[in-house]
Amino acid sequence: MTHGAGGLDRGEFLVRGEWVLTMGPAGDVRDGAVHVSDGAIRSVGTWSDLSAIVPAATVIGDGTGIVTPGFVNTHTHLSEALATGMGSELRLFQWGEHIVGPLGEVLTVEDAREGTALRSIELLLSGVTTVNDMFVHGNPREFASVGVVAGLELAGLRGVVSFGAEDLPGGPGTPPWTSVERIIDEHLALEAATRDAELVSFRYGVGTLLGQSDELLRAGVDACRDKGWGVHTHLHETREELAASADRWGRRTAEHADAIGMLSVPIIAGHAVWMLDSDIDLLVRRGAGVAHNPVANMILGSGVAPIRALLAAGIPVGIGTDGAASNDSQNMLEAIKMAALLQKVHALDPGVIDASTVLEMATIGGARALGMDSVIGSLEPGKRADVVLFQGSVEVAVRHDPAAQLVYGASPRAVSDVLVDGRRIVANHRCATVDEAEQIERVRPLVDHVARDSTLGAAGWSKR
Ligand SMILES: [Zn+2]
Repeated sequence: MTHGAGGLDRGEFLVRGEWVLTMGPAGDVRDGAVHVSDGAIRSVGTWSDLSAIVPAATVIGDGTGIVTPGFVNTHTHLSEALATGMGSELRLFQWGEHIVGPLGEVLTVEDAREGTALRSIELLLSGVTTVNDMFVHGNPREFASVGVVAGLELAGLRGVVSFGAEDLPGGPGTPPWTSVERIIDEHLALEAATRDAELVSFRYGVGTLLGQSDELLRAGVDACRDKGWGVHTHLHETREELAASADRWGRRTAEHADAIGMLSVPIIAGHAVWMLDSDIDLLVRRGAGVAHNPVANMILGSGVAPIRALLAAGIPVGIGTDGAASNDSQNMLEAIKMAALLQKVHALDPGVIDASTVLEMATIGGARALGMDSVIGSLEPGKRADVVLFQGSVEVAVRHDPAAQLVYGASPRAVSDVLVDGRRIVANHRCATVDEAEQIERVRPLVDHVARDSTLGAAGWSKR
């Protein structure tokens, strides 16, 4: 039953809800609707007005639900799609060495494609319509990252893809495996694969600055300047990173990134947990975006990102799930809830952040951090039609405050319909592009291959 997004038409829809939370200038519309045709949002208004203007449109929603822009998952690693549930008690550097390194040596294009299609179901059913991915691997035999593009296209998700290359031993990522030329060639192959993809674009991936040789860092900055590419990386995730950066370069990672020109290209940085005021000032001056990953920060015990300070400084901040293995799920609704809870418990003050701020981060904030806010992130006429309807679940049955109900009360059970670029990818709580049961069967042998060939099974990290 797996059809792929190509089989779905961009129809004319009215997505109807008791509340339409636009995250744009129109604010929250009561008894509202969003008019979608040919993949774009045409108008947002009250149900009574819009239903009179476009009576022939297909109506999605019975007027009891909540409509939002699609969520922007600003940081994940689909390279971990088939490796969840391993090493959850390890710190980042040990986790990189014991899990990500061995895993990355055996990942193939097929693993990438099928793993992406599998996790796309989880992403879509938690309201995600755009995913910013970094595929981390060290398989010298294949440009494995390229498979992500086909997986996203099959699922019908909007995506930004990157290859999280590293070439140094002993770092948090892959072992030495290849040359700078081989790595640049894979970036070029991945960028080429996105050219024919309707909804997938490219960024230059830097797994971590510390995981790269100075030669590779230089080659990357040169390539970005030359080609006009943006960067997707990790920055200031753990205290260990900052100690290692001081040892190697005599300065903090962000200072080094700036010194080599990496902050002078459009950049989105995962984490920004350990930030001095001077680090925040630097990101503001360079216009960098941040992806906040509360679940991964908690699982790896990395720390609490200073979200209020980042937002107050004017830095665009989005929310990410982080990789399927450093989170163990791709449930964006959980990441959204945790983003709020982590700030509250850290400050011992429930008033430090509210549901609307967190929803903003998950939508328009993430779009800004990716430089895509003119296209997605809010429900506004002219933007692409990435729309989610929450309806038909006890979790959204009581709606005294729709934003609070979504942030604190909703799970994927509440996601009824998801439109991506005007295509109805989730209809009545089911993914229409990738059949869940079939995809689970399809990846079964791949999960075995990952456990066996990486030796993660023999090392005791997998019970398979
Ligand atoms: Zn990450």
